[in-house]
Amino acid sequence: MHFTKQPPMTGPTKLPPIVLSAPSGTGKSTLLTRLFASHPETFGFSVSHTTRKPRSGEVEGVEYHFVTPETFESLIERDAFIEHTRFSGNYYGTSVEAVRAVAERGRVCVLDIEMEGVKQVKRTDLGAKFVFLKPPSLEVLRSRLEGRGTETEESLGKRLERARVELEFAEVPGVHDKVIVNDDLDKAYEELEGYILSLIS
Ligand code: ADP
Ligand code: 5GP
Repeated sequence: MHFTKQPPMTGPTKLPPIVLSAPSGTGKSTLLTRLFASHPETFGFSVSHTTRKPRSGEVEGVEYHFVTPETFESLIERDAFIEHTRFSGNYYGTSVEAVRAVAERGRVCVLDIEMEGVKQVKRTDLGAKFVFLKPPSLEVLRSRLEGRGTETEESLGKRLERARVELEFAEVPGVHDKVIVNDDLDKAYEELEGYILSLIS
């Protein structure tokens, strides 16, 4: 893994990126969609690469860059990623270019990544702030994942298994700058927005 290549914090903003992580199905995308809609000029999403198949409604270059494993591996070889990992049978990664593109538009970059990516970003000098979103319980998490209707029995099992590990990791003191429980959606949003705006004001 290489951490020497950093996207320059160019453009009008030199504010550090914000990393949102959570077990899959907790509500990251739901809350970030609201954040971007409420502050369209302020934040920009770091569009990751993944080898998973697009879900219904997902658009190339918006939620993800959807690529083949061969393309992903050639990007790894070309040192294109700030961080990357395998999750639930697929590759996911944040490219240097994804973060640079947001900074160049003068926006605060927001990353939606899982635990291994968090560990890798922590080893860079991006100076990121880390927010962890917690489900009220594993039972609620299961029912959100089921309710989203995107998972097979197998991928649901993998995601729930991984959720236990991610929740344990999040208990390590100092790993995250802010922990928010996503029980009531409006309350969780207010807390997230309030924290993030306090960082940039
Ligand atoms: P993530 O991006 O973390 O994988 P999503 O944003 O896709 O999670 O949310 C998973 C599912 O849970 C979605 O169907 C979403 O509508 C629902 N959801 C998110 N937050 C809440 C909440 N606070 N209460 C009830 N359902 C929620
Ligand atoms: P999903 O398949 O549900 O979109 O995402 C699965 C998991 O991968 C989520 O926890 C999400 O945060 C994480 N993820 C998305 N993009 C990246 C990335 O670029 N790097 C890493 N490490 N995780 C990612």
